[in-house]
Amino acid sequence: MLNRRHFLSRTTLSALGLGASGLFSSSCTTASSAKSSSISKFPVVLSTWNNQKANAAAWGILEKGGRALDAVEQGVQIPEADENDQSVGYGGRPDRDGRVTLDACIMDEQGNYGAVCALQHIKHPIKVARKVMEETPHVILVGDGALNFALEQGFEKENLLTEKSKTEWQDWLKEAKYKPVANIERHDTIGMLVIDKAGDCSGACTTSGMAYKLAGRVGDSPIIGAGLFVDNEIGLATATGVGEAVLKSVGSFLIVELMRQGKTPQEACEEAVMRIAKKQADHKEIQVGYIAMNKAGEVGAYSILPGFVYALTRESGTEVVEVPSYIKK
Ligand code: ASP
Repeated sequence: MLNRRHFLSRTTLSALGLGASGLFSSSCTTASSAKSSSISKFPVVLSTWNNQKANAAAWGILEKGGRALDAVEQGVQIPEADENDQSVGYGGRPDRDGRVTLDACIMDEQGNYGAVCALQHIKHPIKVARKVMEETPHVILVGDGALNFALEQGFEKENLLTEKSKTEWQDWLKEAKYKPVANIERHDTIGMLVIDKAGDCSGACTTSGMAYKLAGRVGDSPIIGAGLFVDNEIGLATATGVGEAVLKSVGSFLIVELMRQGKTPQEACEEAVMRIAKKQADHKEIQVGYIAMNKAGEVGAYSILPGFVYALTRESGTEVVEVPSYIKK
């Protein structure tokens, strides 16, 4: 078990092409050992999984005094465009019919929110979600409606199914058994939480959803209160893992409300995981991970199963932190 804290300065990150994932095993620390660094001045970027490059992109906006909303939109586009990230955007694993369908949402410091569900052919669903928020009187667009809106807004139609994801799907089709298995579903959906220099909060969440899902299935990631919630008075939270469990417990909203009642982000994340563990008999088979941050910039995270990490970027650098879990290793 790794518990050594290892900060990577931004200089180091860029010397590595921002790709510190190769150093992951030596840059991992535990959430509890990171506590002493949990309060410092803004800005701050917190994202699910080892999304250091996404954090660096968000940081590029924030260090110039940019808005948290612009930072999260910019940050999550990194995994959306990365064909090797098979859980987000281009290269994402398809549904059981071979279609890559994307879910994304964004929320700002004023409580504005926009989302797209089951959007096909558009590489950056987060940009479409922001357009829904800013250019329509609605908050969610789905399927063909979302695609038509994106095309009207000038987005380009692209094939998102890479050869790699297509071949894996064709292999899966030989048996075509679907059960969310913890090992393959512990993936890299990105939820990103940011507080900018002005102290304002925004969040974004984007995913290709569960691999080989039923056509039309929507998870927690684009749904306000489930995959993401932002309240500029209190703080923010986001989720990754089996979306059905997060939806049923309205996890991100729950965490923000628990923080409103005085819980620390860590206590709130633990309580949200406990709600799932208490109600879902099969919780040992599924992964759900939460990250949260309060207005003071204190962070917390908790997951059902071991293996979840987050990336935290502050002025002092970026660290990847191993998250404590309900089921121990
Ligand atoms: N929460 C996403 C969903 O259920 C998937 C994930 O984060 O792994 O669609």
